[in-house]
Amino acid sequence: PPLLELRGVTRSYRTGGWFAPRQERQVLRGVDLTVHEGGCTGVVGPSGAGKSTLCRIALGLEQPDGGMVRFMGRAWGRDVRHGLGKDRRHIQVVFQNSVNAVNPRLTVERIIGEPLENFTTLNRRQRRARAGELLEQVHLSPVLLDRLPHRLSGGQLQRVCIARALAPRPRLILLDEALSSLDMLVQARVLDLLTELRRATGTAYLFVTHDVRLVPLFCDEAAVLTEGRVAPVDMRTSGQARA
Ligand code: ADP
Ligand code: ADP
Repeated sequence: PPLLELRGVTRSYRTGGWFAPRQERQVLRGVDLTVHEGGCTGVVGPSGAGKSTLCRIALGLEQPDGGMVRFMGRAWGRDVRHGLGKDRRHIQVVFQNSVNAVNPRLTVERIIGEPLENFTTLNRRQRRARAGELLEQVHLSPVLLDRLPHRLSGGQLQRVCIARALAPRPRLILLDEALSSLDMLVQARVLDLLTELRRATGTAYLFVTHDVRLVPLFCDEAAVLTEGRVAPVDMRTSGQARA
């Protein structure tokens, strides 16, 4: 069954103002997208295609102008945050630039512990223990629990952010260019990790990237987003293109 469903989603922004002429820019022009329970859907698109807008709408951070978004069988209300309520824990995100996405003053323990604090009743000691388990799950040593983010490599920090996303046991993880700032070798390792986690936990993924090569490696269905519209990708053809 569909876990996340977007139907005919539209979104415009008003641009211009003081000096430039005012105009309405339609960023999403009727987007249909489905992520199935435990599945992985890829969205590929060039820069400016509307990927970030799509991510914000999927996360419930922003509201579409038209169309419908359903998550876990429920339509999101006008106030998306309110509509989602406690289901928020079930959709977590990993961003491209984790250095900017984490608080530089928080240790790895607190970074991973944040969603546990927000979404579970675990006490401090239990959160530390769980954070240590999650580090092991992303193949990092629990020794890192007391480190600050600037003492980690890019690949380590990205793994920490994956651990944080896994922490509240979400049904869906949104990967927003999550591999894009890593060099190719690290990218391949993190992709292997994600594949392994997908098998172990049954978590579904929405994998958003500009890099078309990554999609057949991880996703079981995919769409191309250009100029605010989506077209399905034939995974067999894109697999052949890679070979
Ligand atoms: P992508 O992530 O694929 O690069 P974005 O969703 O960031 O695409 O942006 C798509 C288009 O929408 C861009 O032209 C961008 O300038 C515009 N846009 C995105 N967010 C806003 C906003 N909050 N206000 C005005 N324009 C925006
Ligand atoms: P339990 O609830 O007893 O840990 P599960 O079947 O839920 O058993 O999970 C098996 C293993 O996978 C455990 O180590 C658990 O921590 C981990 N796990 C399962 N689902 C998730 C998830 N969504 N995020 C992180 N870890 C998970």
